[in-house]
Amino acid sequence: MDLAEFRAGLDRWLDDNAAALAPDRSASHGLDEQMAHLSLVKRASYDAGWMRWGWPERVGGLGGSTLLRAYLGEALTARDLVEPGIYSMTEVLAPTMIDYAPPALAVEMVPRLLRGDETWCQGFSEPGTGSNLASLSCRAVRDGDGWRVTGQKVWTSLAQYAQRCVLLTRSGTPESAHRGITALFVDMDTPGITVRPIETMHGAPEFCEVFLDDVAVPLDRTLGDEGQGWAVAMDLLPYERSTSLWHRGAYLYRRLERVLAAAPPGALTPEQVGEVFQQVYAFRARSLATQHRLAGGERLGPETSLDKILLATAEQAVYDLVGDGLTDEVLLGDDPAGGRWRSEMLYARAATIYGGSAEIQRNIVARRLLDLGADA
Ligand SMILES: Cc1cc2nc3c(=O)[nH]c(=O)nc-3n(C[C@H](O)[C@H](O)[C@H](O)COP(=O)(O)OP(=O)(O)OC[C@H]3O[C@@H](n4cnc5c(N)ncnc54)[C@H](O)[C@@H]3O)c2cc1C
Repeated sequence: MDLAEFRAGLDRWLDDNAAALAPDRSASHGLDEQMAHLSLVKRASYDAGWMRWGWPERVGGLGGSTLLRAYLGEALTARDLVEPGIYSMTEVLAPTMIDYAPPALAVEMVPRLLRGDETWCQGFSEPGTGSNLASLSCRAVRDGDGWRVTGQKVWTSLAQYAQRCVLLTRSGTPESAHRGITALFVDMDTPGITVRPIETMHGAPEFCEVFLDDVAVPLDRTLGDEGQGWAVAMDLLPYERSTSLWHRGAYLYRRLERVLAAAPPGALTPEQVGEVFQQVYAFRARSLATQHRLAGGERLGPETSLDKILLATAEQAVYDLVGDGLTDEVLLGDDPAGGRWRSEMLYARAATIYGGSAEIQRNIVARRLLDLGADA
């Protein structure tokens, strides 16, 4: 199926099913409800075929260009049917499973994620390990036919909902840095795993602490080879900075339109609005080129840090405009729309932290793209 045919068919299907797919936007629509609604939308899209396009046939997909699934994410977020952050986990984790899991495991698991039957999480960061990921210490020790894992992860998004986790572990010596890391695919209901949600300032327990105490993981749950975890992480991050950012950009544009509609006349100057509009479109232009490179079979790498910098800058600019343009009545009021603006405005501060902080992205640009040597 080509992109034009896909867009026309999907848009028609979304129009026809608008009522069934629309989320309840009342005040009680918290994270639990958003997660349940995400599953509903993914299941309906999968069963109708749309969620399967752009994914390889060997894992239950229908094949075709990755541009198809980029458009699906754009359509679902721009129509406000799913929240972009929680939708993006599929785009981040499914490609990693397809590339690195033993083939039988990928065939068994990927359709569950695509169809919304399961949620997965990404266990990379630890209390002492964020930007310097190569220093992680969650320990994996070989034991007969498997691994025993002990350690702690933190900021693990959606871990309280997740059935599986892509977990980075230290399988080499403590000094082995990026050479001694192994990636595992762990069932979250394995004995020894404790998940504690963390309440964020935007009012939702979006991420968690995850404690692992002598957790048994079978050997065939190793992603890639033992010691190849760094390559798994480095190949995953460009997805976090490409396909999943595209639909976030679409969502931002929609929210920018909404701020303009909701702001009282004269509250925002044309210069302010123009500046933010430019930033959203600069990201979109950059990300469009990235989507085409991915669809063309190019291997994405450190250049996706530019996409992340542009997106995070645009996102914060949009929500700065919200703060400037909307009245206190909207921003401080009790109605659901005001609560949503408030929550999104606060969450925008995280855009320059998650997926690698803005400073780290700039270091990558300096070192890997501009060849400027050591960290700034
Ligand atoms: C909303 C949200 C969701 C997240 N979800 C997940 C998830 O699902 N899974 C997961 O594994 N992690 C997740 N994270 C964690 C995220 O990846 C880390 O927060 C991020 O990598 C930064 O690490 P840190 O918090 O340890 O900060 P640190 O690495 O301690 O950095 C602190 C500050 O120092 C700066 N800094 C650090 N090193 C340098 C340097 N060399 N040069 C210049 N400045 C530097 C950083 O830019 C930052 O401003 C999430 C974070 C957020 C906010």
